[in-house]
Amino acid sequence: MNTKRSRVQTLRAVVQWVMFILVAAIALVKYLKESGVVIPLPEISLHAVCPFGGVVTVYEFLTTGGLIQKLHSSALVLMALGLVVAFFFGPIFCGYFCPLGTWQEWIGKLGKRIFKRKYNRLLPSFIDKYLRYLRYIVLVLVVYQTAVTAKLVFADVDPYYALFNFYTGEVALSALLILAAVTVLSLFVERPWCKYFCPYGALLGLFNLIRVFPVRRREETCINCKKCDVACPMNIKVSTAKAVRDHQCISCHECLSGVACPVEDTVIISSAKGGRQA
Ligand code: SF4
Ligand code: SF4
Repeated sequence: MNTKRSRVQTLRAVVQWVMFILVAAIALVKYLKESGVVIPLPEISLHAVCPFGGVVTVYEFLTTGGLIQKLHSSALVLMALGLVVAFFFGPIFCGYFCPLGTWQEWIGKLGKRIFKRKYNRLLPSFIDKYLRYLRYIVLVLVVYQTAVTAKLVFADVDPYYALFNFYTGEVALSALLILAAVTVLSLFVERPWCKYFCPYGALLGLFNLIRVFPVRRREETCINCKKCDVACPMNIKVSTAKAVRDHQCISCHECLSGVACPVEDTVIISSAKGGRQA
């Protein structure tokens, strides 16, 4: 048992809990204030704190200088921040901050209890492999439709918004059904929304191809135990990679030495091929 394992995982769990509670509180305060309840807190829209809002409004911003209805300039700032972080460290947003990712992980814990080692390995690999590109189609469709209509089209199918506003009466039935489907699917597959559908995850995932600090495996010390593969929620074969450049990596750090990998300084985050830890 080593302490690094608990430190990385504890940090991630704390960040995930804080984000989940914060987003839930923002949505609740807004709902209560709109219902006439007096609360001495600012009213913030979830659209103002969603970096994907920045992505879908970029075209509108560049062509007219304005923003898509309901969006705020803060979404553009968060988008820029997310992209810069992803350029250096990959989709940290997905692995640590996204409350919908956290929700799927929590449901997945129940799935792991039910299916044990079969969990997250139930879908035939040839279907799974191609389905993972679906999220790029979703990304292109959402960005295109938003640009053409100048409306927040994604809101009608967005499970993230539905998760925190299901009780408000303002969520489209389609979004609620997608949230329900994602929740049920999470019992069988780890992070199904992230893997197959999420347009923001698709965009951030591209940075895995070029990120400055990828996850690296040092071949000379690797004992080929495959524990990193078993730990990876995105089914990436870390044990055969020198550097993880898979577009599906969510930077959750579950595969690292001291977390899943039992050998010190073997699965690390590093910019150098030789493998000094960053
Ligand atoms: S892939 Fe999408 S839903 Fe999953 S963690 Fe990333 S942003 Fe969140
Ligand atoms: S490769 Fe490692 S950091 Fe990337 S998703 Fe898999 S376990 Fe997480």
